[in-house]
Amino acid sequence: MNSIILQVNGLSKQYKDVKALDNLDLQVEQGTVFGLLGPNGSGKTTTLGILLGVIKQKSGNYSWFGNNDATENRKKIGALLETPNFYPYLSAVRNLEIVAKIKNIDNPTSQIESVLKEVNLLERKNSKFRTFSLGMKQRLAIASTLLGDPEILVLDEPTNGLDPQGIAEIRELILKIAKNDKTIIIASHILDEIEKVCSHVAILKFGKLIKQGTIDEIIGDENYIIVASKDMIKMTQIIDSNENIDVFKASERELIIKVDKDMTAEDVNQFFFDKGLVLSQLKVYTQSLETQFLEIIK
Ligand code: ADP
Ligand code: MG
Repeated sequence: MNSIILQVNGLSKQYKDVKALDNLDLQVEQGTVFGLLGPNGSGKTTTLGILLGVIKQKSGNYSWFGNNDATENRKKIGALLETPNFYPYLSAVRNLEIVAKIKNIDNPTSQIESVLKEVNLLERKNSKFRTFSLGMKQRLAIASTLLGDPEILVLDEPTNGLDPQGIAEIRELILKIAKNDKTIIIASHILDEIEKVCSHVAILKFGKLIKQGTIDEIIGDENYIIVASKDMIKMTQIIDSNENIDVFKASERELIIKVDKDMTAEDVNQFFFDKGLVLSQLKVYTQSLETQFLEIIK
């Protein structure tokens, strides 16, 4: 196991009568891409705000890099909490020079070139910010978080408002950055986004931690398959007498069954056929993480 780069213990936050965070525990290992996943209002932004020192918690504590030196630690964290304010009539380079100045980076020229290259905007470095597409603006924002070469990137809903192309570009970018041994923490309400880029995930609901683990642990080892037959009673009996198959959801006409990950739809078909039952319907259900996520947050 890698070293723990962020430890969160019992964090709570109250806004008047809204319990935004309720005794949240998190552990983030160095070098992982950690997803904070939950529906809107589940407390993701509040969590990141507290961890970056811009919101004060009611109780609980956290520690970056195993210490409590907030000023030093903050320099090692690049954060994108909301769409940053770049100057529309200044070029990408000029905007980053301003950020570099705020971050007290000396001789930033080569660093600016390198982060622009990283986010695929080097060719557009002299274009005015206002001429950028939404996706390019977001990539410039990520470039600005990379200035100062932070060990950790914290991104809140980095693909919000982007079209599919823009989303794919950000996803590629996050995966590329992660290869450089950085730890990345991403908050998102979009399961697909988390599943595609993260190695670890924590699922939040109403400010509470529901589950935390590696994507593989959370996805589980199951496939979901929709089956139906003319004889649903016999089907149910066959399933009941087999311990590798469980009913996930039942309706009069069909069942969603849960089977081992290595059991394909073909295997399921063969299995019922061997028991003397012909299926009238056989269909792979949506991805299991999606299924579980919807179950968890409903
Ligand atoms: P998420 O980022 O997961 O969408 P937030 O952390 O923004 O969730 O919000 C968590 C809860 O706290 C929500 O119920 C939200 O309405 C509430 N909340 C967030 N910020 C404030 C605030 N400044 N004042 C009052 N309530 C807030
Ligand atoms: Mg949010």
